[in-house]
Amino acid sequence: MQLLPYSQPSMNEAEVEAVREVLLSGWLTGGPAVAAFEKAMAAYTGAAEAVAVSSGTAALHAALFALGIGTGDEVIVPALTFVATANAALYLGARPVIADVDPETLCIDPSAAEALVTDRTRAIVGMDYAGQPCDWDALNEIATRKGLHLVADACHALGGEYDTRKVGTLATLNAFSLHPVKPITAGEGGVVTTDDAALAERMRRFRNHGLNVEYAQREKFGSWYYEMTDLGFNYRMSDIHCAIGLTQLNKLPDWVKRRGELAARYDAAFAGMNSVAPLVLRKGRKHAYHLYVVQFDLEAIGRDRQWLFEAYRREGINVQVHYIPLNYHPYYREKLGVGPGQCPVAERAYDRILSLPLFPDMTDSDVDRVVSVSHGHLGGTA
Ligand SMILES: *Cc1c(COP(=O)(O)O)cnc(C)c1O
Repeated sequence: MQLLPYSQPSMNEAEVEAVREVLLSGWLTGGPAVAAFEKAMAAYTGAAEAVAVSSGTAALHAALFALGIGTGDEVIVPALTFVATANAALYLGARPVIADVDPETLCIDPSAAEALVTDRTRAIVGMDYAGQPCDWDALNEIATRKGLHLVADACHALGGEYDTRKVGTLATLNAFSLHPVKPITAGEGGVVTTDDAALAERMRRFRNHGLNVEYAQREKFGSWYYEMTDLGFNYRMSDIHCAIGLTQLNKLPDWVKRRGELAARYDAAFAGMNSVAPLVLRKGRKHAYHLYVVQFDLEAIGRDRQWLFEAYRREGINVQVHYIPLNYHPYYREKLGVGPGQCPVAERAYDRILSLPLFPDMTDSDVDRVVSVSHGHLGGTA
């Protein structure tokens, strides 16, 4: 039985060749491949600036740092996201405040977010769950009215669009990940896009120990001098990683198209089955289809999510769960005093979601295999 992963990176000789060139160039970090990758990310998204960092987590950390978020501040985050979204606030001494999600898209619910705003709230972080941009108009309206910063955790959504605007331009700062399961990968890596040159400059210092001059500039000016002006980190993305990222970015438009075709094939197959429902796609959004998430009607099926998870796995289909609601994690329960019951929509969704396999190299018959296994599990109720 062939194992079908839920996600798998696409690589070929183009990435190998790009790495070879960097290795033989002698410039392994802070060099021309970083600049070229940043320029290409800015051009692709339509943002003025792109800052490459070592991971999506570093991107979120740098973004909140650049906004001056710190001790005592509150940052509103969605319940259904990866832990890094909340941890970026915690790294800075700020408090993540967990908002419930929309039952149809599983993106942050703007009215739930607004209800959590206090006089300590500094920012809202929207996360484009599964690759569909969240309700940025509503979030923007709330942020403007309440005087808050708006940050996008766009780690799922590179290649997505909201009306005529590309993901990467929907919030003041937009964070991407280049982890192997994401829309493009560099092995590890991250990017923040923004139109704000001062914020970009602050993030470039933050990724380099808070030093005010980067190696490339020092090389250019032949200067030995630098000053440390912020407490930064070593969050640099190497030229080796950036060369892979740039090669992948050139392939992204084809991949987004292919992901959309595979998702449409799933949609068509599930349209006739009332015990399984894909997420709702809102008007005016272009979905990047990082994940293909379905919600099961457990009552109709008479099984729980764990049973379904194991049933797919038994047949070699590596489904996943995105995500355990943040308010369930022991660390946040202890540090933030949160717990089950706080985000009923996210918690109800968590009990009934699975992410089915979706990646550009998947074949139509791979989709058909997942669909036929689904039919089998959902039995006579399908
Ligand atoms: C992957 C991911 C991150 C973290 O990215 P890394 O590159 O793994 O650090 C953050 N938020 C979301 C929503 C993600 O999917």
